Amino acid sequence: QAKISGRNKYHLFDAQRDQEVRTHHNQRVRISEALYNNEFVLYFQPKVDMRRGLVIGMEALLRWDHPERGILSPMEFLPLIEQTDLIIEVGEWVMRKSLAYLQEWIAAGHQWVISVNIAARHFQCHDFLEKLSEILSAFPQLPSQSLEIEILESAAIQDIQYVHEVMLAAQQLGVRFALDDFGTGYSSLSYLKRLPANTLKIDQSFIRDMLDDQDDLALIGAIIGLARAFKREVIAEGVETTEHGVALMRLGCDLAQGFGIARPMPANQVLAWAQGYLAPTAWRSVVVN
Ligand code: C2E
Ligand code: MG
Ligand code: MG
Ligand code: MG
Repeated sequence: QAKISGRNKYHLFDAQRDQEVRTHHNQRVRISEALYNNEFVLYFQPKVDMRRGLVIGMEALLRWDHPERGILSPMEFLPLIEQTDLIIEVGEWVMRKSLAYLQEWIAAGHQWVISVNIAARHFQCHDFLEKLSEILSAFPQLPSQSLEIEILESAAIQDIQYVHEVMLAAQQLGVRFALDDFGTGYSSLSYLKRLPANTLKIDQSFIRDMLDDQDDLALIGAIIGLARAFKREVIAEGVETTEHGVALMRLGCDLAQGFGIARPMPANQVLAWAQGYLAPTAWRSVVVN
């Protein structure tokens, strides 16, 4: 009796698992169609130097403009393809498209850096450098250091020796690196020392509560100190209010990104936004503690 129901259960589970695999497969097929049908779009979120009230660059953030479901966030479809090589095609598309937009913005007089998010699987792919160099050479007019690659701190420490080598080689091509969601990836100081990343990007979870949570404030201070010790740039993400910005500047971090500055916006709004941007006057006179 028990045996039979046990077996039935197993079959049931099997069938469910089967269904799941099929569904995921179909979803992946749909996502690859989206890429070829041009349903992917990039939104851009500014990065600013709060003290100088200056826009320093834009981060490209992927969206799927789904014909029935509207604009979808990356969390709704990226996890499904991060386990497949499709993420590589998407990443290459993001880089090409971003550099093309940057070219327009530079032509309009903005000296910006464009940041793109690259998945670990893509970064670790054997011909990553070759493709990167090919993509960059399609934009010979762009100044060196125009492209910044954001990789998750947690991804960068997976195979530190390899990542170290790829970073150095890419930097030879004029590419900058930022460690995204920094502070959540458990990297040790010795890892940080071995990663030649230009920038540490403090994770937004620390920023969110920094005004009420002394521990988060201390942690942010420690990351900023770390950045200074290792001669890296530091930027905060998730800056939602002027006060967050003030607190960050007091700790010695002048670079920021967040809803308090601007939400991610479609490419065709970027120039008008930049034209009208005025940093809060409170940011001009903040004294470092
Ligand atoms: P991320 O790179 O850490 O990007 C920051 C995320 O926080 C973005 O969400 C952004 O819209 C959101 N954000 C920015 N400022 C604020 C703020 O002040 N408050 C709050 N609550 N959120 C803020 P988004 O666009 O949904 O992207 C989520 C993640 O998806 C990104 O995290 C990144 O890891 C990944 N992603 C986005 N675009 C790409 C892409 O083209 N390729 C890859 N591989 N991953 C991407
Ligand atoms: Mg990012
Ligand atoms: Mg982040
Ligand atoms: Mg993130």
